[in-house]
Amino acid sequence: MPHGTAPKQLKDEIDAGLQSRGEPPPFKTNTRKAANARDGRAGEWPDFERRRAHAAARRQYALDHLDELHERLREHWRRRGVIVHHAPNSAIANDIILGIVRDRGARTLLKGKSMLSEEIGLNDYLARHGVEPVETDLGEYIVQLRGETPSHITMPGMHLDRTDVGRLFSEKLGGEYTDDPPALTRIARRALREKFLTAKVGMVGVNFAVAGTGHLATVTNEGNGRLVSTLPDTVIGLMGYERVTESLADLALLWQLLARSATGQRATVYLNMLHGPSPGPSGPREVHVVIVDNGRRRLNDDPELREVLRCIRCGACLNACPVYQQVGGHPYGGTYPGPIGIVLTPALKGAGHAPDHPFASSLCGACEEICPVSIPLPEMMLKLRARSVDERAKPDPERAVWRVFREVMGSRRRYELAAKLARGAQALWPGREMPIPGWTDHRDAPRFAKKPFRDLFHEDER
Ligand code: SF4
Repeated sequence: MPHGTAPKQLKDEIDAGLQSRGEPPPFKTNTRKAANARDGRAGEWPDFERRRAHAAARRQYALDHLDELHERLREHWRRRGVIVHHAPNSAIANDIILGIVRDRGARTLLKGKSMLSEEIGLNDYLARHGVEPVETDLGEYIVQLRGETPSHITMPGMHLDRTDVGRLFSEKLGGEYTDDPPALTRIARRALREKFLTAKVGMVGVNFAVAGTGHLATVTNEGNGRLVSTLPDTVIGLMGYERVTESLADLALLWQLLARSATGQRATVYLNMLHGPSPGPSGPREVHVVIVDNGRRRLNDDPELREVLRCIRCGACLNACPVYQQVGGHPYGGTYPGPIGIVLTPALKGAGHAPDHPFASSLCGACEEICPVSIPLPEMMLKLRARSVDERAKPDPERAVWRVFREVMGSRRRYELAAKLARGAQALWPGREMPIPGWTDHRDAPRFAKKPFRDLFHEDER
């Protein structure tokens, strides 16, 4: 899937995904494995529900006090010499990052994993301006080599198996084909080592900024985040405006829930805490934080949808979602797939930007059930569906149909007349169901009885 699939094409993309034949794609088994692993770990905590409720409350507290917590962060960062940049939108965020890279005379930006950098389109922007973005998370590195976007929030290469990676490495990095995972990891490590050692500027995605201490916390399993944030002289932390926690105790709880929900681990292998420029011989000389708004402050004022900002990007709702399990992440387009994506994308950008997104769900509730911070995603999908219908261009044929339906159902006489007409019309398709465009493509339209129950009832009475 190439970059930049517009969210508006979601229906077509899903149809294409469902119709493609061949081997079951890897995301079908990978989502199941991840969801099972999460259930196993959740079961280890007898008080899992209590911790989950506490985590939701602490995330909500942070959202309710965002300005105050940012004030505390600014004070810590000012004392430690961290340089803070505010970016109201993607264009300004990209400009700021490009400016930092150019000012240091660098031609590459070494990157840790960051979905926000996908959201702002940073890689394309840097490449257009002569800077090479280098992904260092293995999954991100693989999808970057393929010219793709991630298909999952925490497992970017969820749609690939090891033979895909083996072919890719042999084609792009040279050498013999192998699909042995440790050998593939060694090949990637060799290719990236030189980049780690020579990069002047690194960038990490900030999972949480801790208001009580000023720490920038980054969660990884591969150690690349630690290398990216310690080897280059200049390090940039890229964070969304909402990614703030009040205390280290909150961070500890969210970190464990994130790991358990994402991959079924008790904790991730690394939790990197960046404090500011290093006073010693190793570590960065300069630390920048770029705080991106991109609709988040406005969303935090939206009483119907603001709870979605509690999201800690664990990806568990993707693994649990029957739609995602069938089509994978790419048909959603944009940055965020699955249940969180179909809410967050229109919530951040407006219902008109992704009008089909809130409809890509069976409303089964599995996403809310698995979410470690109890975001009521199905309820929000319904709210967004209503907004999407309201924002649709006029005249809207669906609106007209429902208006007629209301008129017909509001009067017995009109109802009986309509039923009679429908019975007459079905005679045009003898022995089979009446085709109703857009409806009978995916549903049955049972034939009307020759004589309605009402008439039979009256005959029986007589
Ligand atoms: S909505 Fe919940 S389950 Fe989905 S990614 Fe966010 S925190 Fe995880």
